[in-house]
Amino acid sequence: MKVIPSVNEMSRFSDAQRQKGETIAFVPTMGFLHKGHLTLMEEGKRRADHLVASIFVNPAQFGPNEDYGTYPRALEQDLELCRDIGVSAVFTPNTDAMYPDGFQTYVELEKLPNHLCGLSRPVFFRGVATVVTKLFNIVKPHISLFGEKDFQQLAVIRQMVKDLCFDMEIVGVPIVREEDGLAMSSRNKYLTPEERPHALLLHKSLLAAKEMIVGGETDPRVVAEKAKAILSGCPDINIDYVSICDPLTLDEVETIQAQVVMAIAVWLGKTRLIDNMVFG
Ligand code: AMP
Repeated sequence: MKVIPSVNEMSRFSDAQRQKGETIAFVPTMGFLHKGHLTLMEEGKRRADHLVASIFVNPAQFGPNEDYGTYPRALEQDLELCRDIGVSAVFTPNTDAMYPDGFQTYVELEKLPNHLCGLSRPVFFRGVATVVTKLFNIVKPHISLFGEKDFQQLAVIRQMVKDLCFDMEIVGVPIVREEDGLAMSSRNKYLTPEERPHALLLHKSLLAAKEMIVGGETDPRVVAEKAKAILSGCPDINIDYVSICDPLTLDEVETIQAQVVMAIAVWLGKTRLIDNMVFG
């Protein structure tokens, strides 16, 4: 497995595979890898001759008061996991390599970021779209894999790939959960032992919503209120949003008819948690 911090070297690695007529699957990550990331990588391996992963904590997607400085990092352990999976190359640029002095070009979407997480994290999707554009140009994959855990991010990437004519396939991978239902996330590390059981309320409220919708409830307000009531059962939880929306536009729906996604973001103490479920 090659570990490649240099932009030029990464680009040359990909050129060499493409010249041989071999395909590249790509999984971008911010590291501190868990089974969610590894599932994306396994799926990528199945779909291409080579799997490239990147590990880069992208400063451009963190707001000034967010957790860039404390975001968990464990590079050696991550590389070991990548080796075990059979990753061909891991791209590990530093911040100067990705954002050299004088950097001034950003990628912004007009509509999708004005929903859900974009409302409370105003620079997040511009940071994601910019870094993913750069990573796509450097790694030149045939296929890239993203988790449905970050539902809005996946929607943003799909839209960006369409709008900017990136010649690649985007694959969404279902959410990987802990045995008790908590969606896996690098940020779960922030949870204290006292908070950890309360984190289950996200999944519980999604399951309760599912039961209501399967039972015939079509009013999104009624379903969202139920979910909020479950979340509010824990005084340490502050709800950012509970939204039932169209999976493509992310606009809130008036009635639950066709496919909808219910997306949740909360603060549990100092930890921001998100989860979602698609219905219909
Ligand atoms: P991150 O390192 O958090 O930026 O995540 C890198 C990729 O892994 C993104 O495409 C995420 O959506 C995906 N991912 C993170 N957690 C999970 C999970 N629990 N299940 C599926 N995919 C995930």
